[in-house]
Amino acid sequence: MSFLWTPWRMEYIRSEKRQGCIFCTEQKLPDGSENLIVFRGPLTFVILNRFPYTCGHLMVVPYIHKASLEDLDVATRSEIMENAVHTLEVLKKEYQPQGFNMGFNIGEVAGAGVLDHVHFHVVPRWGGDTNFMSALGGARVLPELLSETYERIKRTWDEV
Ligand SMILES: [Zn+2]
Repeated sequence: MSFLWTPWRMEYIRSEKRQGCIFCTEQKLPDGSENLIVFRGPLTFVILNRFPYTCGHLMVVPYIHKASLEDLDVATRSEIMENAVHTLEVLKKEYQPQGFNMGFNIGEVAGAGVLDHVHFHVVPRWGGDTNFMSALGGARVLPELLSETYERIKRTWDEV
């Protein structure tokens, strides 16, 4: 089943979030266009953002459920950075963005969507990218389906 970008799906995810941590839930599912996990390392995984800021918005997430960076050991923090660099290379090859926003949002006031499970954002940027995504019923409209983005990232991951 392919993912559709609909407010209904958004409501579904919101209700899921109230029941538990989305990152802990997704990592228990088989990898594919449903859980959107493109790569698994020993300590961290890389997952497409279900509500991306731009097309190709990925996140590097530790398996362990911890709220902040100082709660992670050195090996986990290092793997986050190495996977972030690989993610950057994959996006450069597959999507040729003109720039990136990369980093952590820690705490609700800083814009964190998932408060208790720290994650590193990799957001590809293009000039005028906030213009080509229009708002429709509170949901952003992206130039391709998440399932297509998933297949492109997964295919390129091993080539880079
Ligand atoms: Zn969690």
